[in-house]
Amino acid sequence: MAIDKSKIEQAIRLFLEGIGEDPNREGLRDTPKRVAKMWEEFESFREFDMTTFEEIGTYDEMVVVRDIKFFSLCEHHLLPFFGKAHVAYIPDKKVCGLSKIVRVVNKFSYRPQVQERLTIEIAEFLEKELKPKGVAVVMEAVHLCMAMRGVRNPDSVTVTSKLTGKFLECQKTKEEFLNLINSHKKL
Ligand SMILES: [Zn+2]
Repeated sequence: MAIDKSKIEQAIRLFLEGIGEDPNREGLRDTPKRVAKMWEEFESFREFDMTTFEEIGTYDEMVVVRDIKFFSLCEHHLLPFFGKAHVAYIPDKKVCGLSKIVRVVNKFSYRPQVQERLTIEIAEFLEKELKPKGVAVVMEAVHLCMAMRGVRNPDSVTVTSKLTGKFLECQKTKEEFLNLINSHKKL
């Protein structure tokens, strides 16, 4: 995926015309450029890859990073969905920096997505890179396409999860993870 800023600018200009706006009026004049620049920023999140994913030590207990704020766009309406991701893994020697986990969430969030696939992609990427004994990803999100349009249900939260390895095989591990992500929960 590479960004073509001039295509984005043309498209946004056409879109504004399409909804009956004057793309030359003051507030909108620079909007195509701003949107293109915004996607350039999103692209920088998406570029994170395994080469920057170095090992930092050894540890074999569960690692949980809870309450990672994420922002994504539903691919059906291009409206935001956003919320919290909780990511855990059980290392098999290989451990990465905690900030890397946040970067992996961002990598797959900043693109047109569906929450189910986003959850799976994060889990599969961590599986591939860390070869851990198991990965667990739970995502809770509010979808603006459900809040602003359609059923107009702004308070419903969509929860998705993907568990692999020990989190699937061992009920105790799974419960430990669920307890850790639910403790001190702020509502
Ligand atoms: Zn949608």
